[in-house]
Amino acid sequence: GDAVPEHLLEGLNPPQREAVLHRGPALLIVAGAGSGKTRVLTHRIAGLLATREAWPSQILAITFTNKAAAEMRERVHSLIGEEASGMWIRTFHSACVRILRREAEEFGFKQSFTIYDSGDVRALIKRLIKERGADIQGLTPGGVSARISKAKNELHDVDSWARTANLENPLDQAFLELWRDYDRELRRANAFDFDDLISQTVFLFRAFPHVAAQYRKRFRHILVDEYQDTNAAQYALIRELTQPVTRADLPDLRSDLPGASLTVVGDSDQSIYAFRGADIRNITDFERDFAGARAILLEQNYRSTQNILSAANAVIGNNFDRREKRLWTDSGDGAKIVGFTGYSGHDEAQFVADEIVELTSGGMAYSDIAVFYRTNAQTRALEEVLIRTAIPYKVIGGTKFYERAEIKDAMAYLITVANPADPLSLRRIMNVPKRGIGPATEAALQAFADEHGITLRDALRRVDEIALGPKVAAAIKDLAALLDHWSERPEADPGEVLRDLLSRSGYTDQLRRSPDPQDAARLENVEELVAVTREYRRQNPGGNLIDFLTETALVAAADELDDSGGQVSLMTLHTAKGLEFDAVFITGVEEDLLPHRISANEPGGPAEERRLFYVGITRARQRLHLSLAMTRAQFGEVNPAVPSRFLEEIPAELVDWRTLPTTMRPAPAQRAVGRWSDGPRESFVTGFRDPKPLPKGKGTFANTITEVRDNSALELSPGDRIRHKDFGEGRVQAVSGAGAKRIAEVQFDQVGRKRLLIKIAPIELL
Ligand code: ATP
Ligand code: MG
Repeated sequence: GDAVPEHLLEGLNPPQREAVLHRGPALLIVAGAGSGKTRVLTHRIAGLLATREAWPSQILAITFTNKAAAEMRERVHSLIGEEASGMWIRTFHSACVRILRREAEEFGFKQSFTIYDSGDVRALIKRLIKERGADIQGLTPGGVSARISKAKNELHDVDSWARTANLENPLDQAFLELWRDYDRELRRANAFDFDDLISQTVFLFRAFPHVAAQYRKRFRHILVDEYQDTNAAQYALIRELTQPVTRADLPDLRSDLPGASLTVVGDSDQSIYAFRGADIRNITDFERDFAGARAILLEQNYRSTQNILSAANAVIGNNFDRREKRLWTDSGDGAKIVGFTGYSGHDEAQFVADEIVELTSGGMAYSDIAVFYRTNAQTRALEEVLIRTAIPYKVIGGTKFYERAEIKDAMAYLITVANPADPLSLRRIMNVPKRGIGPATEAALQAFADEHGITLRDALRRVDEIALGPKVAAAIKDLAALLDHWSERPEADPGEVLRDLLSRSGYTDQLRRSPDPQDAARLENVEELVAVTREYRRQNPGGNLIDFLTETALVAAADELDDSGGQVSLMTLHTAKGLEFDAVFITGVEEDLLPHRISANEPGGPAEERRLFYVGITRARQRLHLSLAMTRAQFGEVNPAVPSRFLEEIPAELVDWRTLPTTMRPAPAQRAVGRWSDGPRESFVTGFRDPKPLPKGKGTFANTITEVRDNSALELSPGDRIRHKDFGEGRVQAVSGAGAKRIAEVQFDQVGRKRLLIKIAPIELL
């Protein structure tokens, strides 16, 4: 081919350049975060196309997420200036779906197969366990599905697994039979589960060499990003695709072809999926597995400032059993890392919001800012404050807190209690958790209600007058009694109401007993909501359920904000891999969260959590913020939180602590009074709060839920004095936006400048 055009090499350092230009069977690029691995892959693809060494259709690039795939495609496009359709830039899963759809008929599937997600899988296994009855006690849907998944990721099928298992063990025997049934059911339903997609593609290639040969012939260049996170099945797939093509398999080939050239890039310090079977040995053994492999090391980091890098290096240096690498940068020290310890998760969230306001008023776009957390339950406080501060945000790879199914369930319980006339919420929870009230029963209740001109809730109370089975009638009576109990007590503490509803309805129990990890996350979320309601009563003495719903309905229903300046990205640390932002907030840097509690007993668990923290730190280009709270509302309770051990691993001179974590506070006198150290936030963190309780929500239970505070009509102009429920008195500096999206900038006397979404801000004009 021609020489790689100079513009594709411009600005690359010598090893990067070498990585783009190298030609050979296999290339391994190992390098720390931000050293240009992904960039090199992209330029390499562009180079192959520009020199016409490869047609677009001969390239297969594997990325870790669909978002990363889209970005890479766009980059290649902008580098070579033409639409490179036919090129496959995909995740492992999406590449395999594509192959399986094309080849399905070849091995007895219909092309229209469906893909079962984890919920479908669990439901199926649950049914199978039930059908088999008592002889398989000890097997749970979550446990079985996790085991099947693990086995499939190790490329086992039922028979190969049976050969390795100890079938004397009745539990293993039962598991095996269940798995057999499960796979049979999947096949009958013309369906695959997620793990099948990869393992079945491998099996397909192994069973049908002529099929495999077509793909080997087609993909001459295979490039894999984030290689440290590949598991055994994915590794096997790469092996299959890079085998030589022989005329024995493809008779119309003129001569045998060597295997595709393979480029992989990775960083063992960023391996964060060991719990899903990812195996770092895929990197360390690369040179042995792929003969003639060339390895290139990149050491210059182009993403972050020296302060951020030094922190990252110091933290990851605490993991032993790793190859030492020293990332360096010539971009200067940059700003210090900012540390903040809030009293509560809410306080921490307020810090994040205040800093975002500061950054954006200095010219940074919302889209250049990201907030990371270890668990999804942490988003609730963050979202609430962001909404109140009129900061547009999106939750990447997740659902906004109040849009989650389990939160809607819990809220529906509360609304049904508060507003017995509302059939929508009642319908939502009538059979949640399952109490045998199916669609037919619901229809019978509704028909009775219509006939007598009463509400659905009244029909529940008069279930004796409806011809229903005794079991379902009893279940309905229990539900009606539970709801009525609290509907008759409108002044009760909302936290107490919610806790009791969730527990007596069996809702929390069902989640708690489930071995499914997703249900554990759901449990965390509803318990977070219980903590919110408790916190509400603490801050609003005497506040009742209506008041609470009034407040939260506002937050839950706040209009989507204008996002022309982009949106702040909220995501878990796992989702953050491979991305970069000018400013990054890592929140909840506490023991039990980061490192997460579940990692404590896993071999290698804390080391993997440290890599996760390292991934988070190295996403930041210019500004890094680490925050934690002294108390964390979790599992329905507010508990003291302990600063993460990882914080102590960062050299003190790199961090500007606005408020120190408790265990790090220098002066004993300060510790004694339990107050924060210096800093402009003093007045805020000492917890100034207007002692006056909120005005009570008006009206009766039946009609108030929609009667929420709406300040849209409030006239505000610069110079006006206002009073805010939490922030006290202040003077309006500026008003911008229109209608529901009007925003006030207010200089508060005690807590400084804040932005408020006028529509929902708890303010009054003085
Ligand atoms: P991660 O391990 O986090 O995935 P990475 O090694 O893939 O990181 P990239 O995302 O490719 O790193 O690069 C990090 C940043 O540095 C990007 O903004 C990229 O454009 C920039 N960069 C990489 N190499 C150079 C270079 N030679 N000159 C200027 N900028 C560069
Ligand atoms: Mg990358």
